[in-house]
Order: sequence, then C-alpha cells, then structure tokens
Amino acid sequence: MSSSIIRNSQHNIGFICTGQQCDAGLGDKLAMRWISPRFERQDFTFSELDRFSNKFANILQSVGVGAGEVIFTFLPKSTEHFFAFLGSLKAQCITGTLFSNFGEDALLDRLGDSKARLVVTRKSLYRKIERIRDQLPHLKTVILTDVAEHSSDDVLSWNKLMAEASEKFTTPCTAPETPSVLHYTSGSTGKPKGVLHRHGSILHQNRTTREVLGLLPEDLFWCTADQGWVTGTSYGIIGPWSLGVTQIHFAGGYSAHSWFELLQNEGVTVWYTAPTALRMLMREEQSLFREFDLSLLRCIFSVGEPLNPEVISWGRETLGKDVFDTWFQTETGGIMIANHPSLPIRSGSMGIPVSGIEPAILGDDGTVLADDMHGNLCIREGWDSMFITYLSNDTAYSSKFKKGWYHTGDMAWRDKDGYYWFLGRSDDVINTSGHLVSPFEVESALLELPEIVESGVIGAPDELLFEKVVAFVNFHPGVDFTPEMELNIRLHIANRLSSVAIPQEVIQVESVPKNKSGKIMRRVLKARYLGQDVGDISTLEE
Ligand code: AMP
Repeated sequence: MSSSIIRNSQHNIGFICTGQQCDAGLGDKLAMRWISPRFERQDFTFSELDRFSNKFANILQSVGVGAGEVIFTFLPKSTEHFFAFLGSLKAQCITGTLFSNFGEDALLDRLGDSKARLVVTRKSLYRKIERIRDQLPHLKTVILTDVAEHSSDDVLSWNKLMAEASEKFTTPCTAPETPSVLHYTSGSTGKPKGVLHRHGSILHQNRTTREVLGLLPEDLFWCTADQGWVTGTSYGIIGPWSLGVTQIHFAGGYSAHSWFELLQNEGVTVWYTAPTALRMLMREEQSLFREFDLSLLRCIFSVGEPLNPEVISWGRETLGKDVFDTWFQTETGGIMIANHPSLPIRSGSMGIPVSGIEPAILGDDGTVLADDMHGNLCIREGWDSMFITYLSNDTAYSSKFKKGWYHTGDMAWRDKDGYYWFLGRSDDVINTSGHLVSPFEVESALLELPEIVESGVIGAPDELLFEKVVAFVNFHPGVDFTPEMELNIRLHIANRLSSVAIPQEVIQVESVPKNKSGKIMRRVLKARYLGQDVGDISTLEE
C-alpha cells in the first residue's frame, strides 16, 4: 500500500475527501466555511459534503452521464462548485472547471475539444454558452444553479434536481489510473490543451499538503486560488479535505482590509496565495496591517509566479511571517519544488524538491547539467500526480517526455545546496498574475476585429503582475487608432477569451515582424519594446 489514505484500494478522490472522512469519525467536523462577498457565512460539515456530492453523483446517473464522460462547472466561486466537483469524481466522470471570466472562444475551445456532456453554470453565464451551443453537439445537459424550475428537457434546475436526488451513493472502487480532473492550459502555439489527471494524484496532493503546507487536523486553511485553476482544485479542495482539514472559501474579490479581517476573525492558520496578491498588499497603506492580530497564522505559501525577495522581506517586517514559495504547474498536478517551513528560506529560490520528486536541469541535447548551469527544468517521470495525457493530443503529450524526463517548459538552475532558481519560460507563454496566457490565442482573437490586419502579442515585465500582455497591432489603412478603438480591443479580448488575457498596452505598428515562413517573431517585438538588441534577424521578413 502506497499511502495511509488508501483503504481497500479505493483511490476515488470524491470519496476520500468526504465519505472516508465520515468513516473516520469526522462527519460532524466543519469541512468548509463559505463566506459570500457580503460576508454571509454558511458552514458545511464533512457529512454534508458527502451527502451533497452523493446527490450530484446520482443526478449525473439520472441524466445519463456515465463514467469517463466529461462534465464542467462554469461558475464564479460558489458552493455548488464543490459538490459538483466531488460528486462527478464519485461517479467516475472527468470533471473540468472553467474560470467564470472565460469568453466564448475560450469556452468553445474547451467544451468542444473535451466533448463535454454536461455543464453546471448559472443563468447569466449560460448566455455565453447559448451563443455557441449549436457548435457543441456533445453537450446534452445544462444545470443552472440559480433557477427554481427546469427551463426545458435539457436546461435543468440545480435546486430541483438536488431536492429530489437521493443522498446515498456507493462510490465504485476506483483504480489510481482512472481519469479524474481536467484543466486546460495555454501554450505558445495552437489551442489550449486539456491536461488530464487521474484519481491516484490524490496521493501526491495529500503528501504535499502534509509535508509542504504542513496541515494538521486542527488547522484552518485558506487557499485564495479560484477553482478554475489547478491550485484551486489540488489545494483548494483535494489536499486539505483528504486530510480532514477545515477550509474557508471566500467568494469576494481582493480587498486588503477584508482579507486581513478574514485571516484574523476566522483564525486562519495556513494561507496559500499568489505573488501578485502579496505585491498588491505591499502597495497598501502599511499601517493597515497593524490593526490586525495574526497570531494564529503560522505561515504563508505562494505559487504561480516568481516570488520576489522583497515580498519575503515585507512579510517578515510587516506581518512578522515567513512567505514560502512553491513551484508546480497544471501538468504536475501538485507541488514539485518548495521552500519548506522546516528549512531556512532561500529568498528568490523556488526551494528544494518535495519527497519522491526528482528534478534536473537538462541541456538542449538532453544531458543533465551541473550545478549553477542554466537549462531546462525537467522532472523524472512517474510521480503520482503526473498528468496522464493532453486530451485528444497524444503527440503533444509525448513531445513533453524525453528519455524518462518530463520537460516543464521552464528554464532554471540549481545551486550547490540543491535549491532551484527560476529563470523564465522557454517558450512565449505569458504569465500574468499567475495565469498563463497564450500569445497565439490573443493574436487570433485580435484578427477577428475587421480593423486589424496583423497582430503580435508578447509578455513584458511588470512590477505588479510579473508580466503584462502587450499587443502590437497593424490596422487597415484609414483606421484611426482612437481611445475608443483601444477600449473596443480590450472588450473584445475579454468577451472572446477572458479578463486575464486583456492587453495592458495596445501599440500601433506599421507591420508585425515575421520570419520567412510567416511565423510572428515575438522575440523581435519584445526586444524592440524593451529597447534591447534584437539579435539575429536574418530570417526576418517585414
Ligand atoms: P500553470 O500551469 O498555469 O499552473 O502555470 C505553471 C507555470 O507558472 C510554471 O511552468 C511556471 O512558469 C510558473 N510558476 C508557477 N509557480 C512558480 C514559482 N513558484 N516561481 C516561478 N514560476 C512559477
């Protein structure tokens, strides 16, 4: 047996996080305190999580969605999300989460590629899906969380279904290889890819929640990530609940005052957040933080982007707390490298490998490089939460593995003490406040506007967001680049893709540099933007 959380070979994530906790006597323990944007609180015990997710598993069966089929939630932070996530895993469906800011193109790519059978959403968000529904032949059922009655045979009311569903469900014994969670991730070329995980990933998520985040039964944990992203599922759901730990979830947005009120009043002991959020806090009036008593807060963890040493110093000086960096990606399913609370923090470094994980820095020829040398960050394949494929894209999946190493796409180096240091991405993917944005997707969406002939998109350094999206656009002759036009461009990207992909800057150009095969030379755009030497441009064709 590979871990103490596995009983009778049952690897089912939905069951381990709920029914198994009840079997261990935690049925009446608080699993989730839900806090609305207006600070209304709703408490759910592990027994309630179990019963509500059982109901959802039964609903899936009643509408004919079976094991291995894909369901999505497309919701702002809401309680239904958690029941649907756990219930669909109990029913051995593949469960995907869609960030509620996604626009029509982003939705069509994901729902179409995955052949999703069912979506749980709410009325206002469903309008976006309705507009593309004729292009989604596999989408049979939509469940709306905020209507009292079914609207039609295939647009159903969550409340009605939940009221009628049985709260008893026997979760089938689930093998570790069984597909579980699906998250889409953006690359620098092509459409977003569906990263598919397996139920066995819970072993790694459980282990790292214990070993890195250090959660104990009496802890109160807060992970600020939205469930639309991997941190929000691996550590905002699976890791803590697999350990029977209580979590708070706050549906409101960023507000320094509200966040600190929550940390203090709820008695949060471990907090997992992101560098952009911490940098935003650093910009606040610092006297604000003196109002709060954070004596219960043991430590703060960060993920998603490089954690600058200034944030760590700020944490110590202003809050009297250490901030520990952790590194992982959608594909790795769980933390791979981290600054552990048991070790002194090496500021600026991502930390050391977590147990069972073997990273290495490889040269472009695949050889393992010595300490201090810059190269590709790779992980020895075969860890428990390693993704099992890119949905319907085996070629892209196998291209990520060479001679037993998974290539992360990040560049890094390791010091002589085994600490890993992030250098950047090896591709053009933009990391803006921890969200990966594909320049290709933004460029394609820009071309949908009739005024634009060509576009090139890059990530430029930004003090707050780590990187910002900058779009270079060449307009048709006679088109005026007015402030209204710029606003229109931004709105268009928000509607088609998402708010995170909105260009922070739109720059008019007379042409977009391309190589002889027509590929946009983003490297040249970036060098020009930064006022740097553009390097070898012998293949350039403007
Ligand atoms: P995603 O797959 O969307 O979770 O994004 C993963 C990518 O975010 C990684 O490949 C890194 O480029 C970046 N990233 C995540 N955590 C860190 C970190 N602690 N330091 C630097 N970059 C990070």
